[in-house]
Amino acid sequence: MKTKEEKGFEIKEVPEPEITHANEVKIKVDVASICGTDHHMWDYDQWAQRRLPPAIPFIAGHELGGEVVEIGTDVKNLQIGDKVSLECHEACGTCYQCRSDRMHICRYTKIFGVDKDGIFTNFTVVPELNLVKNDANLDPALASLQDPLGNAIHTVFPKGLTEDEGIAGKNVFITGCGPIGLMAIPVVKTFGAAQVFASGGGRNMSRLEMAKELGAEMVLNAREEGEKIPKIVKDATDGNGVDILLEMSGNVHALRQGLESLTLGGRVSLLGFFPGPIEFDINSLVVSKGISVYGIAGRRMFETWQVMGGILKSKNFQNHLKKLITNRVNMSDWEKGMLEIHEKRAIKVVMDPFK
Ligand code: NAD
Ligand code: ZN
Repeated sequence: MKTKEEKGFEIKEVPEPEITHANEVKIKVDVASICGTDHHMWDYDQWAQRRLPPAIPFIAGHELGGEVVEIGTDVKNLQIGDKVSLECHEACGTCYQCRSDRMHICRYTKIFGVDKDGIFTNFTVVPELNLVKNDANLDPALASLQDPLGNAIHTVFPKGLTEDEGIAGKNVFITGCGPIGLMAIPVVKTFGAAQVFASGGGRNMSRLEMAKELGAEMVLNAREEGEKIPKIVKDATDGNGVDILLEMSGNVHALRQGLESLTLGGRVSLLGFFPGPIEFDINSLVVSKGISVYGIAGRRMFETWQVMGGILKSKNFQNHLKKLITNRVNMSDWEKGMLEIHEKRAIKVVMDPFK
C-alpha cells in the first residue's frame, strides 16, 4: 500500500473486500506485475507528488491476471472460474467522450492502484466493465502484461487510422526500448511490418539485445549514434525514411530523431510522457512534412483488448512476450522486484500473491 507522502510502500493487513454493488465481481489475484507507474509512486518522484496525495492510503498495482470467485447479481458476461485481466481506467460512461466512442479518454477517468485501491493484494472487487475475459489456458503471468501490451497495441492502431497508415509492408521506427517499446516490436512484426528500427537510450545494452531478439531488423544506440540516427534510418529505407514512428521513450531527442527519420506524409503515434514541456522545430518536422500525429492514452475500450485477445492466441507471440518477464517474486518480496526496476536491470517483474 501507499500509506505516506514519501518514498516507499508498506505491507498492511486489510479486510477481504466484499461485493457491495450488483455490477461488481470479486477476483482472486493469480499474478500482478509491476508497472512504471507503480515505480513512480513508490519512488514518490515529481509525477507522483503531483498526482498522488488525495488518494493515500490505497492499495497499489493494476496489472492483473486473476480469476473470478464471486459475481454480483447484475453481472452478465462473467462466471465464477473465468480468468480475467483488468482494464485499469475506470470511465464514467456518461460524459461526452464516453458517449462518443472515446471511453479511453473519459473526462472523469479513475485509475485502479492510483486513484482507488489496486491489485497488489490477494482479492479485489471491481466492476464487470473493467474486466476482460482471457482464454482459460493463457498463462496468468502473460495475462497480467496486457495493460502495457495494450498500450503498445493502441499506439500501433490508434482510433481513426487511415487506410494508408496501417502496418503491413511498412517501415516502422520505435523510439524507446522500455517494456512497452519492446512489446511493440513483435506486435508490428505480427501485423507484417517490413523493417523495424528500434532505438534505446540507457546504459544497459540488454534492452537493445532484447529488441533484436524480438525481431527488430536494426537497433540503434541513442547514446552512441545520437544525431546520426535519422541518416542511418534513411540510408536503410532508400532515402525515404520510415512510414511510421511509434514514440515510446518520452525523451525529446528521441522524438526529434524519430520525426527526422519519418518520411514526408508519414504517421507518428505519441505514447511516451515527457518530463515536462518540450521544444522542437514543429514547422519543419510536423507542419511542412504533412505528417499525421496521434496522441495515445491508455488502451481503447475495448477495441484494443479485442486485438490483444487475438494476437495472444499465437504461441509464437506468447514466447516473445515471455522473454520480457525477467524477474518473478512473491508479493512479500515486492521490494526486491521494485529495486530491480529502479536499477533498470529488470524489464518486467511479475509477482505471485501473498502466501
Ligand atoms: P520506460 O521508461 O521503461 O521506457 C522508456 C525507454 O526509453 C527507456 O528504456 C529509456 O532508456 C529509453 N530512452 C531514453 N532516452 C532515449 C533516447 N534518446 N532514444 C531512445 N530511447 C530512449 O517506459 P515504458 O514503461 O516502456 O513506457 C514508455 C513510455 O510511455 C514512458 O514515457 C511512459 O511514461 C509512457 N506511458 C504512456 C502511457 C499512455 O497512456 N500514454 C501509458 C503507459 C506508459
Ligand atoms: Zn466519461
